[in-house]
Amino acid sequence: MSAQRTYFDWNASAPLRPEAREAMVATMDAAGNPSSVHTEGRHARDLVETAREQVAVLVGANPAEVVFTSGATEANAWALGGWDTIFLSGIEHESVRAPAKISGARLVDIPAGPEGRARIDALARFEMDALGRAVVTLQMANNETGILQPVTEAVSFARQHGLSVHTDATQAAGRVPIDFVDLGVDLLSLSSHKLGGPKGVGALVIRDGVTIAPLIAGGGQERRRRAGTENVAAIVGFGAAASLALNDLETVGDLAARRDAIERGLIELVPECVVIGQSSPRIANTLCIAWPGKSAETMVIKLDLEGVAVSAGSACSSGKVGSSHVLEAMGLAADMAKSAIRVSLGPTTSDRDIQRLLAAWLAVRGPRSMERGSIGTQDQVRPRFERIPEGV
Ligand code: PMP
Repeated sequence: MSAQRTYFDWNASAPLRPEAREAMVATMDAAGNPSSVHTEGRHARDLVETAREQVAVLVGANPAEVVFTSGATEANAWALGGWDTIFLSGIEHESVRAPAKISGARLVDIPAGPEGRARIDALARFEMDALGRAVVTLQMANNETGILQPVTEAVSFARQHGLSVHTDATQAAGRVPIDFVDLGVDLLSLSSHKLGGPKGVGALVIRDGVTIAPLIAGGGQERRRRAGTENVAAIVGFGAAASLALNDLETVGDLAARRDAIERGLIELVPECVVIGQSSPRIANTLCIAWPGKSAETMVIKLDLEGVAVSAGSACSSGKVGSSHVLEAMGLAADMAKSAIRVSLGPTTSDRDIQRLLAAWLAVRGPRSMERGSIGTQDQVRPRFERIPEGV
């Protein structure tokens, strides 16, 4: 087993940015409660409000629209409570699907096509009556495939029928530009740890004028929208990470080039692999690749033993690995869905990391004869050699 670790699971959680860490450490000794009126309290309040502005800038929102939560799971659960009807797709993250299911709302399925995108046009056939208070929820980018979803189309559909719109922007923030105002959604969920901030903090961005009942009642924090003393250090780290993530958007092309180099390298070594969503618009850092016939679970373990961290399906959910509900919702055959792994990278992923991943892939694959499957005479048997992937 290799002692050197190479991390390709940024969609599960990105490494903490040193600047976010520093900002948090500097904050941890601040004693004040942001709700207190004395100097210490006001200092803590300033820290929270600065972070709120940083997060607001990342998504083009007004700071007053940003409400801090314990993460995107809470933001999604909050956003999806209190509706009579919820339109949602099978490709949503479990933190959207589960609260929708237990909310008691009528659920309307938005089908997903084999290209991995929700088919808003399919809703045209749906009888739009007796919906009550209704919301369309559509993620901005899928956590397993990276495929970008037609949120603008969902907004037009919703506006046409007087529905509200929620988007889970957890995997898109910092990877594609987001303009909350232009986008026109009512509610948008964010998570800090996907941006290189700390875990356990996120936000629900609530469009000015939209009211939703608090999920957590108690004190008057967050303008009475989310009770509980703010996690000041985590919020500060989130703010720092959000600012840096905004700068990352300038180099997102380099990230895509690295992702594509990985894609080419993996396929060159195992040509029967299939890239999921290759021709769909995707966030630059995500690659979902299936090696037909191989269990993703086994691949994750084998690559881990070679020192490389990747994931199978939605591994952020509990270490549980099985067939991916996202890939099944896209209509992929169950054995293909079971063999898909996710490789996700970030702004500090280096050429060296890519070389290590490809070396691990090669080690897992093992030697292969160039004449594999062909029947030849003894003197036709060629020496086995490994091809070194180019361009990485
Ligand atoms: N939505 C998506 C699309 C995600 O990828 C995740 C994290 N796996 C979440 C929501 C949940 O975020 P958090 O970990 O902040 O609760």
